[in-house]
Amino acid sequence: MPITQSALLDAVPTGLFIGGSWRDSSDGSTLAVEDPATGRTLAHVADASVADGRAALDAAVAAQSSWAATPPRERSEILRAAYERLTERAEEFALMMTLEMGKPLAESRGEVAYGSEFFRWFAEEAVRIHGRYAVAPNGATRLLTTKQPVGPVLMITPWNFPLAMGTRKIGPALAAGCTMVVKPASQTPLTMLLLAELLTGCGVPDGVLNVITTSHTQDVCEPLIRDPRLRKLTFTGSTPVGRMLVEQSAEQLLRVSMELGGNAPFLVFGDADVDQAVEGAMLAKMRNIGEACTAANRFYVHESVAEEFSGKFAARMGALTLGKGTKKGVTVGPLIDEKARTKVTELLDDAVARGARVLIGGEPQRGAGYFFQPTVLVDVPTSARLQQEEIFGPVAPITTFTTDAEAIAMANDTEFGLVAYLFTRDLDRALRTSEALEYGMVGVNQGIVSNPAAPFGGVKHSGFGREGGFEGIEEYLETKYVGIAL
Ligand code: NAP
Repeated sequence: MPITQSALLDAVPTGLFIGGSWRDSSDGSTLAVEDPATGRTLAHVADASVADGRAALDAAVAAQSSWAATPPRERSEILRAAYERLTERAEEFALMMTLEMGKPLAESRGEVAYGSEFFRWFAEEAVRIHGRYAVAPNGATRLLTTKQPVGPVLMITPWNFPLAMGTRKIGPALAAGCTMVVKPASQTPLTMLLLAELLTGCGVPDGVLNVITTSHTQDVCEPLIRDPRLRKLTFTGSTPVGRMLVEQSAEQLLRVSMELGGNAPFLVFGDADVDQAVEGAMLAKMRNIGEACTAANRFYVHESVAEEFSGKFAARMGALTLGKGTKKGVTVGPLIDEKARTKVTELLDDAVARGARVLIGGEPQRGAGYFFQPTVLVDVPTSARLQQEEIFGPVAPITTFTTDAEAIAMANDTEFGLVAYLFTRDLDRALRTSEALEYGMVGVNQGIVSNPAAPFGGVKHSGFGREGGFEGIEEYLETKYVGIAL
């Protein structure tokens, strides 16, 4: 029988998970978690103090050497079990994400499928951590290299993908033999708490995974980042916060991975299959209600297909159904909060004031929850703020271009460099454009690039480091070299 909302909220742990047990915060305080579709409180979770944060790191440090010494096959089996249990409990996790984050259930199910794959992928990687043995060029010594876990890791994750942004870090860290303190976003902590419980049931030893929820985010995290026992910081979130954390991490010269903001261009060339481009645009724009770092933020369409593309895209956007993500037939959920909705409104108003035309949508929805209509704008000038800032909402601004060089120049005219999309039937154009785009990832004739087997990450102000693929585990490993004289 499917789990009900109230049964799920009664069952979800709400404490801090430290050293293998659940506890209240040291001062007994809690923080409220809200349903963005109704504005109502879903649950209260423990609000960690600075002392609780330190206790979590103490536990991670204490468990590090034994976890690093655990046979890779054992670590692999734990991850495999995590993949299987998460798949079995997909409905529970999907419902939890829809409740605390707002996305429609179908999308939450998609995130469970995507997020669980990181456990399967890194279960397979855990037993393939290799070194090498080589003869030095002078023939006199032997060069032995091996990989060792980096050490205790602090993981800070955002609210937009409450599960997958965690599993993308936890999977490779467990595989590599690192212990960790996870701090999920304070707006969506419940999914991570449920995951901690699941992972414990799969055999993750006490202290290897610790989860702290807090509203005193900076006060709790900064001492951990400056603690010499921590060896790595991995962060997914906004660029300004990431930049500040990089500065803090300089004191202990931490290994750092930064998955930051995006401003993805979506290029449709004159020879593109327009229907395929519209399909890709729906995915690239509307996945996660537009609240994704990978969301298409700017559409550059060749003048010869602009009218056809805009018309078909607007028709698809207009056919979407807004509502609470748990309701049948709903395809667009609410934004995360009023601040997010205000920002979307401001960016849209700015574009219109500069000459953009609204083809469809264009309004926040009245009533409870933070809904905003799916919107398509045309004739958007390059001076509009939304060409430079992340919209993080269901607004698609379209600008036309004439030459390939013009499209590439507009696409690269940003401080960000996470992902770009391009649509063309010409292989030569696809390859040349992919090479010219200053981005960590490029989607060719597809509106989604996320794949656990591929290295996800950006360049420029979108950060550094890669998650997933063969590269993902390297972020949690150090190379040790041993020179042997013969
Ligand atoms: P955010 O405000 O930067 O928050 C992200 C995380 O950082 C949250 O856990 C937050 O905790 C924490 N945080 C905030 N201030 C902090 C501080 N001073 N010290 C330590 N931690 C701090 O970002 P967001 O609004 O949640 O997420 C949206 C952003 O994430 C967008 O820019 C999006 O592009 C980016 N993102 C990037 C990727 C990627 O892979 N490149 C993926 C997803 C999202 P609290 O919740 O307690 O504030």
